[in-house]
Amino acid sequence: MSRFRMYPTPAQRAALLEQCKHARYVWNLAVEQWSMWTRDKGPTPGYVKQCRQLTEARAAFSWLRLGVQTIQQQALRDFNQAVKNFYRGTHQRPTWRKVEIHEGFRIVGPEASKVVKLNRKWAAANVPKVGWVRFRLSRAVPEAKSYRIKRDRTGRWHIAFAAIPDPIPGPGTGAVVGVDRGVTVSAALSTGELLKCPGPSESEQARLKHLQRRLARCSPGSKRRRRVKAAIAKLYARAGDRRKDWTEKTSTDLARRFDVIRVEDLRIAQMTRRPKPKPSPEQPGSYLPNRRRAKAGLNRGILVNGWGMLVRRLEHKALGRVQKVNPAYTSQTCAACGHCAPGNRESQAIFRCVACGHQVNADVNAAVNIAAGRAVSARRETPVRVSPKREPQLATPAW
Ligand SMILES: [Zn+2]
Repeated sequence: MSRFRMYPTPAQRAALLEQCKHARYVWNLAVEQWSMWTRDKGPTPGYVKQCRQLTEARAAFSWLRLGVQTIQQQALRDFNQAVKNFYRGTHQRPTWRKVEIHEGFRIVGPEASKVVKLNRKWAAANVPKVGWVRFRLSRAVPEAKSYRIKRDRTGRWHIAFAAIPDPIPGPGTGAVVGVDRGVTVSAALSTGELLKCPGPSESEQARLKHLQRRLARCSPGSKRRRRVKAAIAKLYARAGDRRKDWTEKTSTDLARRFDVIRVEDLRIAQMTRRPKPKPSPEQPGSYLPNRRRAKAGLNRGILVNGWGMLVRRLEHKALGRVQKVNPAYTSQTCAACGHCAPGNRESQAIFRCVACGHQVNADVNAAVNIAAGRAVSARRETPVRVSPKREPQLATPAW
């Protein structure tokens, strides 16, 4: 995804926000229908039926009719892709989009090619019903069939072209690496390296806490509240930028250093690692929060979303060289002797084998098991799943 800072005029900003509103309205309508389906298990409307409903909604609401139909249809298509990604296990469940947080829409097809270079530093995109909006050329504009326009929480506008990065050749030595999504670090490699995605610093966390407390005291709709919210948004935006940067660097590095990259199969991971709720002793019927969740705290979003983003990028850059391994028992099995027991896990961070005494960082142990490609199930060995070589999935909107 290559992203450029966009500088719309005040009038264009208003027009862009209007399109964002339409896309959000349509998306949320789809979320509502889908969530009703998961509750009642009735038939869920498919894309075609949803399009018909969109036509009806446009007939009923003049404000929606004023918008661009293709943008609204694209929001539906994006939603359907998001649902598919969710069932594939690579993405989180699609959720409601909120004002000021989720401001964006996507342009696909011939409209997306209306981009011109103005001079060395500036280019412009012709956005339907908005006009030519200028953006800063921080690098060359990639060939892309679609782009997304988005406003972040601090009010910065960006245009992002959905270009899939070129594959990077591997070293050709046959080097294999296992990558485990860690609890204490973002990713552990079977080489023993621990990679940490930069999260919020101590001072940033403190500031966030302080701002959130202040926000709670602000009266709704006040100027002060808006200012505090903007400051919070800035913190999140900065963390997001850092995370993206880390993902690009890490995926490039791994694709360059190793010929085969084995990661856990998220689809299976989702089933095996689903939080097992423990009944709360104080309040029967209620559940204690999941440990991994509670631990992650502020880093939660980074850990959860960062992983999917890293795997997606790896699949693009190390094209056809990413293999997915069943992660069952990788955290309980000794990478040295193969003994599998829940007692092997001395703590969240340390692995110590009860049979051979092998002691190592728990995430590294899991990464070595993943690198070996053995689906260390107690009963059977499961073959590894190779990622498709052709047509990598376009990244869905990363909010
Ligand atoms: Zn052992």
